[in-house]
Amino acid sequence: MTIKELQERSYQQAVDKGWTERDVLLPEQVALIHSEASEALESWRKNEPVSWEDEKGKPQGIASEYADILIRVGHYAQLLGFDLEVEVLRKLKYNETRSHRHGGKRG
Ligand SMILES: [Mg+2]
Repeated sequence: MTIKELQERSYQQAVDKGWTERDVLLPEQVALIHSEASEALESWRKNEPVSWEDEKGKPQGIASEYADILIRVGHYAQLLGFDLEVEVLRKLKYNETRSHRHGGKRG
């Protein structure tokens, strides 16, 4: 799957599941992306396996939450009207020009 396909599929699934029936403003998008990151942190705090399924077959763990982040970002990229694949490639290219640890930053 390409990033472009991820974006298109994430958006289409959001449409199919009713997540586009009202506007999702940027502050809510950011909060929901952050909520997935927080779920990953909580999984780590509970010392769960990185990737597992619960008794209902629902994917769980840090891997699943990181996947949720990508799915949400794909959905919102489509809403905002930009090509996520183009932007990722553009940013990776720019990052190649940056100094070691971007000038001594911690993380
Ligand atoms: Mg989640």
